[in-house]
Amino acid sequence: MRREGAPIGGLAGRDGGPLLAWYRRNARDLPWRRTRDPYAIWVSEVMLQQTRVEAVVPRYLRWMERFPNVLSLARASEDEALALWQGLGYYRRCRRLLQGARWILENGLPECAAEWRAVPGVGEYTAAAIASIALGEAVPVVDGNVERVFARLTGCRESGAELKRQAWKWAARNLFARDPGAWNQALMELGATVCTPRKPSCDGCPLAARCVAKQSWTVEELPVGRSRTPVRHLRHVVWVPVAAGKVALRRIPPGQWWEGLWEFPRVDATEDPEAAERELAALLPGAWPERLGGFRHVVTHHKITVEAWLVRLDEPRALDGLQWFGWEEVARLALPTPQRKVLRLAREGIG
Ligand code: SF4
Repeated sequence: MRREGAPIGGLAGRDGGPLLAWYRRNARDLPWRRTRDPYAIWVSEVMLQQTRVEAVVPRYLRWMERFPNVLSLARASEDEALALWQGLGYYRRCRRLLQGARWILENGLPECAAEWRAVPGVGEYTAAAIASIALGEAVPVVDGNVERVFARLTGCRESGAELKRQAWKWAARNLFARDPGAWNQALMELGATVCTPRKPSCDGCPLAARCVAKQSWTVEELPVGRSRTPVRHLRHVVWVPVAAGKVALRRIPPGQWWEGLWEFPRVDATEDPEAAERELAALLPGAWPERLGGFRHVVTHHKITVEAWLVRLDEPRALDGLQWFGWEEVARLALPTPQRKVLRLAREGIG
């Protein structure tokens, strides 16, 4: 009997086997699958990290229209790139893309996975994805989807770093070297659309006949150790100072969520419900806020209840750490998604 986690070998066969045939029939038609431009593949891979495909598609198209190549991105300002990244979250990815483009402008476009690894912000996964999909290099790619497919297909009961290590070895052994780009995408697509974390569609799976987990009724158990990070509930209070057709915002300092973007003054009142009032009194003594509304926002294991308040002033006077902008100027700034919602509430509130 085969050991748990042992290689199943020869998954691709001579022609890519049932997996590649399935992929050719069922691959989703996504804009980055219509190109072999390494820059375009790179952009799509970075955008897809921790973000749903549906959210990425319109932003990818907008990005490629404004920054169609490395040169156009390398010459952009960080503010411009961040403004275009709005809605994707995890803004550090945008800065890394920009740094990477500037590095490529100086050092030349990488021509293989090893060279892509030298680009700032490009890790093993991204380098392998670009090299196999755009350049046809025979290197395996393992993301969370491939790890899950590997664990179930082979019955591997490892978790964490050991699961990852075995998945990379397995992916290298089973790579279809004649078309590594399509093969890697087929494995990832299977994990994303069929071998999903919950309720996988085993009946429609091209690999069902070779799947240890399916045959041993352990699909729901694998991969093991899938611990869910508990969700934390936060309460943020946001003030919108307005005066003479202008609003005041601050640049978010380094080390905070959304650093480098712009926001209306925001107070974390989760632990201390009166913190917001105290800060407002210190910033704007005697101010009389009007409630604009509230909403929930979810970001990396946090559910934030946001309350927005309008603070009307007679004139745009100097406020500690804040800058005044006209409404049209604010629309061009990079604001995190919850702050953009606050901006909308403020515009509606003022009428
Ligand atoms: S048969 Fe089910 S568990 Fe096995 S690889 Fe296919 S979808 Fe995943």
